Amino acid sequence: MPYKDKRKQSLAQYKYQKSKKGKATRSKYLRSKNAQTLRILRDNKLKEEVLTHYSKSGHLNCCWKSCCVSDLDMLSLDHIKDDGSKDRKQNNFLTGIKWYRWLRIHGFPKGLQTLCWNHQWKKRLGGRYALVR
Ligand SMILES: [Zn+2]
Repeated sequence: MPYKDKRKQSLAQYKYQKSKKGKATRSKYLRSKNAQTLRILRDNKLKEEVLTHYSKSGHLNCCWKSCCVSDLDMLSLDHIKDDGSKDRKQNNFLTGIKWYRWLRIHGFPKGLQTLCWNHQWKKRLGGRYALVR
């Protein structure tokens, strides 16, 4: 229904969204395949943007020396100084896409790098073996 007054339109939309019928319609939409696909595409785009920012030379790839993994599903963020636990406590335990969103909003803070899962694991093992030796 067209409104001449934008405030009235906005108020009517708000009331509809809060109504039982509005909530049911939104819930049905959010569970639809179309909405899920759009959400996945949007989240992948954000993940790619964040991981590219923390990659070397502005290209999406692992920061490990001579590693050429650039598959989005195989890459993740790594705390360079292994202070991820402290960082999560400070940022309300944000993980996954919510953390990527937080990073973008806060201007990509320093101290992170993009690593592939194999090199994340290798870095962790290297630290553990370094303590044993
Ligand atoms: Zn790698």
